[in-house]
Amino acid sequence: GEGERIAKVMARAGLCSRREAETWIAAGRVELNGKILETPAVTVSERDTVSVDGAPLPMRERTRLWLYHKPRGLVTTNKDPEGRPTVFEKLPADLPRVLTVGRLDINTEGLLLLTNDGGLARALELPATGWLRRYRVRAFGKVTQEQLDGLADGVAIEGVLYGAIEATLDKAQGDNVWLTVGLREGKNREVKRVLEHLGLTVNRLIRLSFGPFQLLDLNDGEVREIRGRVLRDQL
Ligand code: URA
Repeated sequence: GEGERIAKVMARAGLCSRREAETWIAAGRVELNGKILETPAVTVSERDTVSVDGAPLPMRERTRLWLYHKPRGLVTTNKDPEGRPTVFEKLPADLPRVLTVGRLDINTEGLLLLTNDGGLARALELPATGWLRRYRVRAFGKVTQEQLDGLADGVAIEGVLYGAIEATLDKAQGDNVWLTVGLREGKNREVKRVLEHLGLTVNRLIRLSFGPFQLLDLNDGEVREIRGRVLRDQL
């Protein structure tokens, strides 16, 4: 059925053990929706209010958000059918259970947001947020700034319509070019497909920013929590 045993919910809130919860209920210290509980044999859902000694219990963990510098060579899925290593296997052991905000391809590196809040993860990855995603790209081939400017109005490739893309030619390096690419959606393999359309083969792809969040000095594999005002201002 719906909901969870009240002792379990109290224990998860970090208040006490399940056994202690039962003792407290027996002692009349616990209220469910404003009424003193007589028995621990009840289930509660997020819509219920549980109070201990008159103070309401936080029913959900507070929302937390982390920046993560994803290394190359990791897939952004919980379990890979091909058995390749996942980001979740490589995250620091002291991190709570998290979800990623969207995905980066196995060979893409750079900024990936992590959160413990599933609703937030889904909201932030929606194209509707219109958040700019910026990438540094190395690609094999040649291209002119004029060709890149042609992406500003969007482009249709094999039936998929890609929105406006800002791309700057930073420099040529041997047989490669370095570009900075900004886009406001996050369609599957968008950067690679759009540049392939111009005859370029992406061989290095680094995400520099996602909306207001920046990779900055984060080292490969490093995780950093966004806290307090910065988090509240952005969400
Ligand atoms: N575009 C891509 O092609 N791959 C990524 O991982 C992200 C954006």
